[in-house]
Amino acid sequence: MTNYSDKKKLLLKILRESAGITDERVLAAIESIPREKFISHGALQTESWDDIALPIGEGQTISQPSVVATMTQELNLTDRHKVLEIGTGSGYQAAILSKLCRRVYTIERHKPLLEEAEKMFKDLKLANITTICADGMRGWPKIHGIDQHPFDRVIVTCAAREAPPPALIEQLCIGGVMVIPIGSPGEQMLKRYQKESDDTYSIRNIMPVRFVPLLPDVAGIKKVVAA
Ligand code: SAH
Repeated sequence: MTNYSDKKKLLLKILRESAGITDERVLAAIESIPREKFISHGALQTESWDDIALPIGEGQTISQPSVVATMTQELNLTDRHKVLEIGTGSGYQAAILSKLCRRVYTIERHKPLLEEAEKMFKDLKLANITTICADGMRGWPKIHGIDQHPFDRVIVTCAAREAPPPALIEQLCIGGVMVIPIGSPGEQMLKRYQKESDDTYSIRNIMPVRFVPLLPDVAGIKKVVAA
């Protein structure tokens, strides 16, 4: 089995020195989650600790570690927080979050990706992650009559075209923070929204990024069109 410890050390150095990651809890979470396990394509596992995005199937990607670390740091998490993630993908970002907050609720629209991620959570004994295959644009659904919102934090790991979906702002608590990439392909900006009241929020630009798009509906389910 490959030993990733040198690559891991180098990545942590890059995160500290070039990516502006100063939160020791975030760095410790990155160090503790085996990123190679989330890369299912064996040939690419040797690159798992490089600071690059990699393919995870269904045309989707696992984000670059420096972007995962920046988004996580911007959320300013405590172990009391309830976090909603849109775009489970490989499950890597959710695994990092799970080390830093009380509970993670994560939504993925591609069922096969979600099933792989669920296996990983089980293998790594990450018991505070709840998953669902659904359209994350609508927020976390009511299940058996139970609502989970408001969330203290929302993280969207795919890019919305113009603005955060209204349901996600609605499900954020007052004072809560959302980190989300906004923009068209090639012109996306990672933004931090802070909800100040039911209908006001402040916005700050974090950095330019490249994410796959936030898409509506669950993948592979054909819509019934009335004749
Ligand atoms: N956080 C992931 C990154 C995955 S890429 C990781 O750590 O690996 C973004 C993911 O968002 C893709 O898997 C894509 O299928 C998913 N996605 C896009 N639109 C979505 C939506 N409306 N609801 C849920 N997931 C969505």
